[in-house]
Amino acid sequence: MQDDLALSAYQLDPEGLDALAPNEPPYRIDQIREWLYAHPVLDPAQMTNLPGELRKSLAGRLWPFVVGIEQTADAGRTRKWLFRSPNGASIETVLMGYRKRTTLCISSQAGCAMACTFCATGQFGFERHLDAGEIVAQIAYANAALREQPIAGSPGRVTNVVFMGMGEPLANYANLRESLHRMIDVIDMAARSITVSTVGVVPGIHKLADEPWQVGLAISLHAADDELRTSLIPLNKRYPLDDLVDAGLYFFRKTGRRISIEWTMMDGVNDNPDQAAKLSRIAHRLSAHINVIAMNPTPLTPHQRPDRMTIRDFMDDLDHHGANATFRETRGHEIDAACGQLRIRSATETPNGAQL
Ligand code: SAH
Repeated sequence: MQDDLALSAYQLDPEGLDALAPNEPPYRIDQIREWLYAHPVLDPAQMTNLPGELRKSLAGRLWPFVVGIEQTADAGRTRKWLFRSPNGASIETVLMGYRKRTTLCISSQAGCAMACTFCATGQFGFERHLDAGEIVAQIAYANAALREQPIAGSPGRVTNVVFMGMGEPLANYANLRESLHRMIDVIDMAARSITVSTVGVVPGIHKLADEPWQVGLAISLHAADDELRTSLIPLNKRYPLDDLVDAGLYFFRKTGRRISIEWTMMDGVNDNPDQAAKLSRIAHRLSAHINVIAMNPTPLTPHQRPDRMTIRDFMDDLDHHGANATFRETRGHEIDAACGQLRIRSATETPNGAQL
């Protein structure tokens, strides 16, 4: 167990912030909490209503990580950070500005134990769980960065959060749950604007359905029969498609929230009419929306993206079967914004974490 005093501000319980400044009166602690969650700033020196001594004492104790790499793409509308925690774990976070929303893609673990064949993070293996503070600090950091440098034409705060960075959130349930509590009850984000994405941890889907929040659920399906799915996603052996679909149905019925199905198209793997037909049946059973994206090739994985004709035919097939599907363009190609990619580059090209 780490001593509370050794933890950064975001790693403390928001109700236990007096550990940061033990001799301060309660109203000061409330002010610090406001700075952390309601109006985050990059540097405690910017906490203008706190006395100078207190600001100084918070220096270096605010964030649970430092910025290893920061990159921008898409004319400044996509920003990516590779954060590093003091013990060396890497945490990837991607910010994307759209017209009506500012979406943050966050990590729930450093690395991932799921070993999906197409995912760069999976090839690296598991480092460790992130704690709730490290998960929420990614949002606070993005909000602080947006305050310094807004994305033109997009909301100046994170409006939507997706757990589509590194890690499997439902394999880190207690910290996921606590981070959702802090987002919804402390930062005051709408539960409906938060999406938990899972590769199919069935007991976790049940638990999340039983929580009091209407968060969204995305299921990374990628294959619509057990043989193909197990070849891509080892966890499918433990929780095969029938169980996964049942869990999805339970979630939909319990929360009233429509699930989304993620489908990363891989050339010659899951881009054929047979998969389109089977996928449509599953989506129909779940009343789910399908998000199709094209594989983002990474140096560690064998899969490629299909050509445009194949993608168009696949989307036509889904349409023909009555499925509700959207092809989504991926953001940030030039900054390795796909899962785990920045980490690969940092490991192979910039071991010292210098700016690229
Ligand atoms: N473990 C969770 C969340 C992290 S992955 C999950 O599996 O849903 C977030 C999404 O990125 C998943 O849908 C995943 O399948 C997808 N993904 C991983 N590697 C990819 C790649 N190289 N190209 C495109 N999508 C990828």
